Amino acid sequence: MSARQDQDAGPRHVEASVPHEHGRTRPHAPRPLLLISDLHLSASIPRTVDAFEHFVRVTADSADSVFVLGDLFEYWIGDDRLAADPFAARIAAILHTLTERGIALYVMHGNRDFLLGKRFMKAAGAIWLPDPFVMTAFGARIVLAHGDSLCTADRKYQTFRRIARWRALQLMFLAWPFKWRQALAERMRNSSDEGRSRPPSPLYDVTHESVEALFRWSHTTTMIHGHTHKPARHQEAGGTRWVLPDWDLDHGVRRGGYLRVDAEGIHALPLD
Ligand code: MN
Repeated sequence: MSARQDQDAGPRHVEASVPHEHGRTRPHAPRPLLLISDLHLSASIPRTVDAFEHFVRVTADSADSVFVLGDLFEYWIGDDRLAADPFAARIAAILHTLTERGIALYVMHGNRDFLLGKRFMKAAGAIWLPDPFVMTAFGARIVLAHGDSLCTADRKYQTFRRIARWRALQLMFLAWPFKWRQALAERMRNSSDEGRSRPPSPLYDVTHESVEALFRWSHTTTMIHGHTHKPARHQEAGGTRWVLPDWDLDHGVRRGGYLRVDAEGIHALPLD
């Protein structure tokens, strides 16, 4: 389903809440929601993986819930990777410790890992979130998105996005042998100019039109997204737009962080 069809269907909306799993007693004080995105995890960035593990085990321990707004993985070529790649299984196992501690985990697809499926969600103890998604937290309505659907100036990418989300095509791709899919993913990753090596260009940022359209569609005045790797708090005509940071602790200056939503509002915080 395309973003356009999603938007025509009207906002999907649930209260963010924590399942009472494993009989854990919940404190009365409402605990914060933590949001992250764009970790681009792979076995080749061990320091970033360590920071992710610390975030899940320590930083998130006092949270109500954790939201991953896309691009948790550098790429994802099908849930059979869980069996084929110990790295993928390890990341899912680390995430699963959240629900074991009574902390809810919500995962949205990014443009790199939109093939994360039911088997992964189960292994990670995660609930899949459609993009965009409207939640109510501490009495405020907030619209969440990965962010790639907002970069509408990049027409070439938007065409790819529409085709890549065609389910019949995804099923054909998923039926390929694992090695073929891996080879194609590696080739696409190497030819892609997204990320660190990408020159700053307005083409790769959100457009005002798409941001205003999402505010209007969602009936919110607060938006949180990632994808652009330009962490910020923007005051737009339609409301406040928070951009999550990408994570990279393996190349040069440490990058990373998260947003915390609690009774005091929304705060951008650095990694521990
Ligand atoms: Mn992205």
